[in-house]
Amino acid sequence: MKDYHIHSHFSADSNAPMADMASAAESLGITEIAFTDHYDPDYAITGWPSTLDFAANVREMEETAAAFRGRLSIRKGIEIGLQHGATLDKCRAAARGQDYDFIIASFHCAEGMELSCGDFFRGRTANEAARAFYIYNLETLADYDDFDVIGHINGVDRYSPQLPTHDAYWDLFEELLRLIIDKGRGIEINTSSFRYKMGDHTTPTTDMLKLYRSLGGEIVTVGSDAHLPHSVGDHIDWGYDKLRELGFKYYTSFEQRKPIFHKL
Ligand SMILES: [Zn+2]
Ligand SMILES: [Zn+2]
Repeated sequence: MKDYHIHSHFSADSNAPMADMASAAESLGITEIAFTDHYDPDYAITGWPSTLDFAANVREMEETAAAFRGRLSIRKGIEIGLQHGATLDKCRAAARGQDYDFIIASFHCAEGMELSCGDFFRGRTANEAARAFYIYNLETLADYDDFDVIGHINGVDRYSPQLPTHDAYWDLFEELLRLIIDKGRGIEINTSSFRYKMGDHTTPTTDMLKLYRSLGGEIVTVGSDAHLPHSVGDHIDWGYDKLRELGFKYYTSFEQRKPIFHKL
């Protein structure tokens, strides 16, 4: 198994040394991980660092990979927080500035507002917020290609005061999946939904994964989004089992930004 979404002390919300995250993976029998530390330029909350020391981050990934060679494969990734407008130029520069194996593009903000603190949801219903979120995703991704998978695609649900109703946004969600597939990109199963006690409303949900497959989507990575060593690998077996259950034939890893398909 591979865990394709792991943070370290390079992310403002983690203190973990890369070696500790890698050791945790190795002890679980995981064969490959991708480090994906945050770069969120123009983040919508003042005080949250919008920077990442790209060169130092890559250097530590390479040193950790060398230290674990033969025991655990380590891919060089990054999680880039997209926002539309001039921010996209910073995202592109980051994506192209280093020799990454794998790039997750995530929406932690939309319409210049942050999701986790609730700003984005104020003054609108959960359904209105979900629609606005996916419209913002579509507008942004129409202008952006420098990524391999979209991170936690329905992450908006985690922060919404109530879950939106499926029918309220499903047309936009389908359009978003079509756009991702047309671009030759993919999605991830992000098993942090279990840590966030989302129950059956996983990230993405079973219905979302079914729709993705029915539209011809094939690229899927599985990641824990761990920020602490004890979260590494958490529920990733669920992700691989879910893909099998839904009839996916392959899961995906990345090397030098190229998808590699592995039989499930
Ligand atoms: Zn994220
Ligand atoms: Zn993450």
